[in-house]
Amino acid sequence: MEHHSNIVPWQIIAEENGAKLVAIPVLEDGSLDMEAFQRLLSPKTKLLAVVHASNSLGTINPVNSMVAQAHAAGAKVLVDGSQSTVHLPIDVQDMDCDFFVFSGHKVYGPTGSGALYGKKALLEAMPVFHGGGEMIKEVRFEGSTYNDLPYKYEAGTPNIADTVALKYALDFVNGIGKASIHAYEQGLLSYATDALEQIKGLRIIGKAPEKTSVLSFVVDGVHPSDLGVLLDNKGIAVRTGHHCTQPLMERFRIPGTTRASFAMYTTYEEIDALVEGLERSIKTLL
Ligand SMILES: *Cc1c(COP(=O)(O)O)cnc(C)c1O
Repeated sequence: MEHHSNIVPWQIIAEENGAKLVAIPVLEDGSLDMEAFQRLLSPKTKLLAVVHASNSLGTINPVNSMVAQAHAAGAKVLVDGSQSTVHLPIDVQDMDCDFFVFSGHKVYGPTGSGALYGKKALLEAMPVFHGGGEMIKEVRFEGSTYNDLPYKYEAGTPNIADTVALKYALDFVNGIGKASIHAYEQGLLSYATDALEQIKGLRIIGKAPEKTSVLSFVVDGVHPSDLGVLLDNKGIAVRTGHHCTQPLMERFRIPGTTRASFAMYTTYEEIDALVEGLERSIKTLL
């Protein structure tokens, strides 16, 4: 279910360390196969890296229980919160994950900004990966010592402007309140799901019981890109393609999907326009 950015870095690391990368299978409704997950966990499992909310399907994974299960097997857990941070209340202490990451541009912040949360003891124990100014305490030719957290991992002059902007983006979202954002978006999601299910030949990919406000779908006989272009011509913005989750597309034996994402500023009228735009576009294409 992972975004390429939660696959490829681990492939690189696995190659360097001789580790083995194992994927948790995805069920037909777009949920992770929890029985398979339980079976796959073993004392050999070093790290569980799992997406909190899928960008392609919207599935919200039960990360709290997955963290507990992984910890029981002796593994550390990294949660990819890129899609959950904007939609759901996040409490990393309650989740008990060891690491949590999100990208600024997925919470209305600037591209190229983001955050890594890690448990202090782990961040203290881990080796530095990036050398430069600021991450040092003292530099001598005989050897250098490293700075305290978080500077230890922040080599060089950071992207100050975008980091300041990210703080304001988070203030904006928190000011409105994640709980009310989530409640509003869930209303949009169920309204849109009901409406799209009425469209002949349209199949929603990802119908897990817990979802963020994302609808991915395919239409019989219609290529997602063609549909995207026609909707775009009507002023309706959707995304088409594999959504940086090629293995997931392969799992569902589709080249890609058309994906409509609803946010706190989306209106019910806009969903009506999407439905009408879809019906007309499909008629044109078939
Ligand atoms: C966008 C996204 C990423 C990658 O974040 P970038 O900052 O764009 O590299 C990772 N995981 C998920 C679930 C995403 O939606």
